Amino acid sequence: MAEVHEARSQSIVKRVPLSVRAVMEQLRAAGYESFIVGGCVRDALLGLEPHDWDMTTNATPDQMKEAVSFHSIDTGLKHGTITFVVEHEPIEVTTYRIESMYSDGRHPDSVEFAAALDEDLSRRDFTVNAMAWSDELGVVDPFGGVVDLENKVLRCVGDANERFSEDGLRVMRALRFASVYGFSVDEATALAAHNRKQMLSAVSEERICTELTKMMAAPDGEHLALIIKQFSDVMFQIMPELAPTYGLDQENPHHDRDCWTHMVDVMAQVEPDLVLRLAALLHDAGKPACKMKGEDGVAHYSGHAEEGARIAEGLLRRLKFPRRVVEEVVFLVEQHDKWPSPTAKSARRFLARCGDEELARKLLALMKADRRSHAPESVSEKADELEEFGALVEAALAEDAAFTVNDLEISGRDLLMRGWKEGPALGDELQRLFDLVLSGSIPNEREALLSQAMEPGA
Ligand code: ATP
Ligand code: MG
Repeated sequence: MAEVHEARSQSIVKRVPLSVRAVMEQLRAAGYESFIVGGCVRDALLGLEPHDWDMTTNATPDQMKEAVSFHSIDTGLKHGTITFVVEHEPIEVTTYRIESMYSDGRHPDSVEFAAALDEDLSRRDFTVNAMAWSDELGVVDPFGGVVDLENKVLRCVGDANERFSEDGLRVMRALRFASVYGFSVDEATALAAHNRKQMLSAVSEERICTELTKMMAAPDGEHLALIIKQFSDVMFQIMPELAPTYGLDQENPHHDRDCWTHMVDVMAQVEPDLVLRLAALLHDAGKPACKMKGEDGVAHYSGHAEEGARIAEGLLRRLKFPRRVVEEVVFLVEQHDKWPSPTAKSARRFLARCGDEELARKLLALMKADRRSHAPESVSEKADELEEFGALVEAALAEDAAFTVNDLEISGRDLLMRGWKEGPALGDELQRLFDLVLSGSIPNEREALLSQAMEPGA
């Protein structure tokens, strides 16, 4: 049996829920081996709270059901997986297995049960994901996952080229784990990820989307940016629309780096929010198509925000991001260069355009990060203006002003009471009143609004 790491068991012991222990004990009492395995062992060793607890055993699904008294669901019988429900907590238990041949780069051609834990661990993708733990044996770590965790290195189990050839998704998983945990990627693993990136073309958009979503939540934006730059070619494999930004000389005194580097640097500076990070990563995607060199030798990019929004929409839809995410990212990309003047009126209009406080804050955050990633000489002046504008937006929010027609202190009902009929004219009148409020001509108060409201048919 593989190496045992007694001392490290402690950080796991104190986290294993009683429900998991109960299933382990019942399997053991019936004479079977049982371990917790994979991501939960990795997370517990890192001192993090695992989000799910997976178990593995030498019992077959039928044997598991006989040995364990809790309610069971046949979630993946074909793959040897049973879910036990203990006090409303689902616990997945899978028989040791090996997977043979991945002729499509996605699914194993067949799944066979394995005789021993080590065999099961050897089919897993990375050393830090190929560890198991039990009370008796402590941490079982045949591939050096504990040392890699300590050194913060992501390394494939066995031959990296083979592992990525079996399942192309592992290339994205490599980028995701390295980004989220702040790891570097082992040299052979990195080389194989570059070499095997085409395998990603066989992987479903949904699986890629899941990995990208987790990757964008990486707590350290700078590290995420480092990984994205190291694996730009992999990123372009899944987002070919961005490839023309790579090395694009901006030829403009406001910029001191190429377009791709600039976008990744902006992404590094925004909070770990999916919409904000994606918007930052895509915000100048329209520049290559819009580059126009003026007579002064300076390049201009008129229309690039709209072109970028179009590119972002196609790209995010293809990758099957949720509709709300697509809409918000597209909006942010389209708006990122619409410079507001620092007045109270423009702050109210800005909020009205965003239609929602959270999105307005995201747009401001994107604009600020964009500004900070320009050439140093051009950073300060605009940055001050944006700070001032941000304060005006906060003030407008505090005023509780109206930012959509629905925020008005009167509604269509009030106009109906005054003899208006349902229909587009009524909507137009509400919109007219809203514009008066937005421009600061009248306050958002019932009396003021009613006194300004026109008579029907006027
Ligand atoms: P997460 O934090 O996203 O849950 P995880 O490592 O637990 O990360 P899961 O997808 O839950 O990932 O998979 C559980 C375990 O199964 C992994 O730790 C790994 O051992 C193995 N595994 C999952 N996907 C793959 C894959 N594509 N190739 C090889 N092994 C995999
Ligand atoms: Mg998991």
